[in-house]
Amino acid sequence: MSRPHLLMPGRMPKDVNDALDAHFIVHRIYELVDHEAALAEIAPQIRAVAASGTVVGAELIDALPGLEIIASFGVGYDNVDARYAAGKGIIVTNTPDVLTEEVADTALGLLLMTVREFGAAERYLRAGRWLESAYPLTATLRDRSVGIVGLGRIGKAIARRIEAFGIPVAYHNRRPQEDVGYPYYDDLLAMARDVDTLISVLPGGATTDRLIGRAVFDALGPRGVVINIGRGSVVDEEALIEALAERRIHAAGLDVFEKEPHVRPELMALDNAVLLPHVGSASLHTRHAMGQRVVDNLIAWNEGQPPISPVPETPFHGWTARG
Ligand code: NAP
Repeated sequence: MSRPHLLMPGRMPKDVNDALDAHFIVHRIYELVDHEAALAEIAPQIRAVAASGTVVGAELIDALPGLEIIASFGVGYDNVDARYAAGKGIIVTNTPDVLTEEVADTALGLLLMTVREFGAAERYLRAGRWLESAYPLTATLRDRSVGIVGLGRIGKAIARRIEAFGIPVAYHNRRPQEDVGYPYYDDLLAMARDVDTLISVLPGGATTDRLIGRAVFDALGPRGVVINIGRGSVVDEEALIEALAERRIHAAGLDVFEKEPHVRPELMALDNAVLLPHVGSASLHTRHAMGQRVVDNLIAWNEGQPPISPVPETPFHGWTARG
């Protein structure tokens, strides 16, 4: 079988590269000085794209007339214009499920670090300050109630962990979930008024852009803790910095930011913010499983099989959809 041409606009993990090289002619344009000239030359041959975080928008899709599949690394695919792809009969795939438990573990770690200040306490010990006095007493999870915004695959895995901690859970989505019994709020602000700890697992994109801002922080109040493990674009960072600096909320724990990998210096200067460099799924085990899912989706397409995990915007109706 001849190997189809595949475009890789940005870096991918080594195991993904090795597996794709065995099945496809891979064009790594990010390695070339003149991307545009290189792209123009190979564009007519490209039938597949493998992307990890790089933008695959209408412009790139239009530049690739033979494109049939965009395999995206990660469950969030706000970097890919899936609606535009759908209009052209192009399938977009992502890597759900295989990272769910890892990201939920990270969310709980971030919550504990934020409320119990474990990162700061460790830095205190290493600085030799324990010799002078014990670390100051912290807030607790014991008297808290958690509201999860975006109770999907990862949100539910977080909720199960929170329940095991003996802490009540409520949630806000656009629609109630049938398979859970947690109290549902159709209004985010109403939930924020009733809980003191908000965990956001929302996807990025236009419908969630800066959904969590000043009004939500003020509804949470001075005991408020905000954890964001979803997408940075969901939280209004300027409003968050103000709320933290003025102690209108207690603390925040963030794994994701508006302009990664750049983190606002004002955020870095705050002692009531815990900041992680987008490590939600970043274990060897889970990143390998995500990479394998990218490869499996592409191999399925190459063999004429249904994709393993098409995104909802591009349901699979057969590979001849483009005619
Ligand atoms: P999912 O199963 O699709 O869950 C997302 C949930 O958000 C859904 O239940 C959805 O419910 C809700 N939602 C979407 N838009 C909303 C809106 N405008 N208002 C209120 N609720 C909304 O996805 P998942 O697998 O749990 O992943 C969630 C997100 O986590 C990903 O998209 C990604 O951005 C992020 N993530 C981050 C990391 C990390 O390393 N930090 C790793 C993996 C994933 P309704 O449709 O009913 O509203």
